[in-house]
Amino acid sequence: MPRKPNIIVIMADDLGYGDLGCDGGTIIRTPNLDRMAAEGTRFTDFYASANLCTPSRAGLLTGRYPVRMNLAHEVIQSPEDRGLPLSELTIPKALKPAGYASALIGKWHLGHRGQYWPPNVHGFDVFKGLPYSHDMQPLAWFEKDGDAPLTESPVDFPKLTQTFFRETVAFAEANRDKPFFVLLALTAPHVPLVRNDDAAWDSPAGAYGDVVEEIDRNVGLLLDQLKALGLEDDTLVIFTSDNGPWFEGSSGPFRERKGQSGFDGGYRVPFILRQPGTVPAGVVTDAIASNLDLLPTFARLAGADLPPDLELDGKDIGPVIFDGAATPHEQILLFDNTRVAAIRTQAWKLVTRAHYRSLQINLGRFNYPLLFDIVRDPGENYSVASLHPDVVEDLKARHKAAREKYEPMVDLFPPWVRPPIADWHPD
Ligand code: MG
Repeated sequence: MPRKPNIIVIMADDLGYGDLGCDGGTIIRTPNLDRMAAEGTRFTDFYASANLCTPSRAGLLTGRYPVRMNLAHEVIQSPEDRGLPLSELTIPKALKPAGYASALIGKWHLGHRGQYWPPNVHGFDVFKGLPYSHDMQPLAWFEKDGDAPLTESPVDFPKLTQTFFRETVAFAEANRDKPFFVLLALTAPHVPLVRNDDAAWDSPAGAYGDVVEEIDRNVGLLLDQLKALGLEDDTLVIFTSDNGPWFEGSSGPFRERKGQSGFDGGYRVPFILRQPGTVPAGVVTDAIASNLDLLPTFARLAGADLPPDLELDGKDIGPVIFDGAATPHEQILLFDNTRVAAIRTQAWKLVTRAHYRSLQINLGRFNYPLLFDIVRDPGENYSVASLHPDVVEDLKARHKAAREKYEPMVDLFPPWVRPPIADWHPD
């Protein structure tokens, strides 16, 4: 029986699908991530569970669409008192009975008030990082290790990426004799783009490229340090992003960006896994998957039982990763805030909501089904609805069922009220 794998999930913030060389990027240099992909498995059709920071993180940690927990709408702002409900089973909570030590190192953004804070209340043994994005207040470095009190100190802004990686290696070393889980939630390349001042950066993609190249350099160091600690073969390392790119960055061949509507650019993100000797090397899969799948996948790898009454939206993708199986998903839903904005199947995609100027358009009202052959036309440029009326009818029926199931969940929570404009980000 092999030992339970250590798991490190590196999640960049607002990194685009098209930024990495292994996913087709040609401007930013990412040799270490490209090597990680070559030595592991890369998903081409992997989706964040939302096109924004807060809901995507809620989905990743719980395996459930964030509309279930009042976190689908926008990101949490400092004046708000929303947070990840304590009733939710998170990855660290699920892995704890299997003997795992867990750390959140980096950005939280799932509630900074009252019962929701600090992240340790959600199962993490150690938290070191920031409560929000690094362009929001309070901007301070918080730490809580076990029962020790929460501490707060100034942030060394240019060193954030380097510090997050260093703390991850320290946690791995301190827990090298038992299984561990780290969510390494980077703040880069979300704006502001602040370079580490310890090196001369010269990315042809400017400051955005520099901070991505710094991430890449640190990924290489992390892999080397895990090897030096004798943990390389026992540690599953994953690289992904929380959503598509914002003002800069490339969404690759996909349409739109972070925070827009049902087109892929806001949701489709890199997903690379590496564990030498365990994860097949040099494999590229187009199986559709989502960050909702991490909790059930990790639970099975850890031999952790999940509550039988827990209704998950994610599925165990271990058979896809380790055995080359087809996706377990019949469909993946893409939400724009609380609305079902698109349905992706392995072969097709139906987009039902789009933004135009300041309008959010329900395309169904115009009887204008946007059906895309997502394999042949990944940029979602040409609707083939008139050629495939049967597929349109099937996906419209699934869309109706998904709306009827998920959208009433919004009514279980108080209406979302936009925080005062003075505190609104960005203004
Ligand atoms: Mg983000």
